[in-house]
Amino acid sequence: MHIAFIGLGNMGAPMAHNLLRAGRTVSVFDLSASAMESLHSAGARAASSALAAVREADVVVTMLPADRHVRELYLGEQGILAHATGNALFIDCSTIAADAAREVAAAAAERGLAMIDAPVSGGTAGAAAGTLTFIVGGETAALERARPVLEQMGKNIFHAGGPGAGQVAKICNNMLLGILMAGTSEALNLGVAHGLDPKVLSEIMAKSSGRNWALELYNPWPGVMDNVPASRDYVGGFGSSLMLKDLGLAQQAAQSAQAATPLGSLARQLYQLHTQQGHGQQDFSSILRLFQQKS
Ligand code: NAD
Repeated sequence: MHIAFIGLGNMGAPMAHNLLRAGRTVSVFDLSASAMESLHSAGARAASSALAAVREADVVVTMLPADRHVRELYLGEQGILAHATGNALFIDCSTIAADAAREVAAAAAERGLAMIDAPVSGGTAGAAAGTLTFIVGGETAALERARPVLEQMGKNIFHAGGPGAGQVAKICNNMLLGILMAGTSEALNLGVAHGLDPKVLSEIMAKSSGRNWALELYNPWPGVMDNVPASRDYVGGFGSSLMLKDLGLAQQAAQSAQAATPLGSLARQLYQLHTQQGHGQQDFSSILRLFQQKS
């Protein structure tokens, strides 16, 4: 089986490395040449374009930033759907709007091609360790074809429903994550402003009813935890601008279903402000800085 992997950023690169480690034949493509270098030296074929990567692939995995990148890659003038082999399976792992995922899946179906949306949870650490959670939308038969490939990059695979359902579930999760990260930062900042040690306060809350993933596994306070972006000046990880995008997708989804999401809306505003202040490229745990400014 020949796999094409397109989009080798913070998430895509470690995911593609895991496919290579599992012995897969992988062709890679990214707009950034430097992103391709480490995959090439690990044994991937460096394709000259997305089309070249896809042309002979049985399975195509894409891991791109947002709707417009996915639409352009799949449906644009040089779109990959139009140039795929007859039986190729497409797995889009990007987090995008459910509507965009459905549009691309419908275009694939028109050409008789199978496609699933398979956004992920677990962060860059999960991508590197091969322990990602895949949240899949699409037909069961397509998911079963994808399963052996997904299992080499992740630990948990959930089938949320038909096309786009993976994106809906992922957006619900990330709205909650944005709220939890902002809330965790707010609480830590309050405690520290009263002279508490952020590490001690984190230990207390992690064993109390305020415990949550952001606090326990991705602590936003620098130095509380090793191996998280907060302890390397918020470099790498999940960019604040990507979190802002996901919180915007949640608001769009809320509007179309007329669901009330006041906390999600507030979290989006906080990330908007934070990004406007120049922190878009920093990991989303850097939202702590928004609170620290006052103290
Ligand atoms: P990133 O910005 O680090 O990487 C995106 C990569 O896509 C870049 O290397 C870019 O050059 C490449 N790219 C863009 N357009 C392209 C095109 N047309 N052809 C080829 N390459 C192209 O982003 P990331 O952090 O890897 O996130 C990717 C997706 O995964 C996003 O939708 C994000 O919301 C989601 N996600 C990220 C995390 C995380 O912790 N970083 C966790 C879960 C989900």
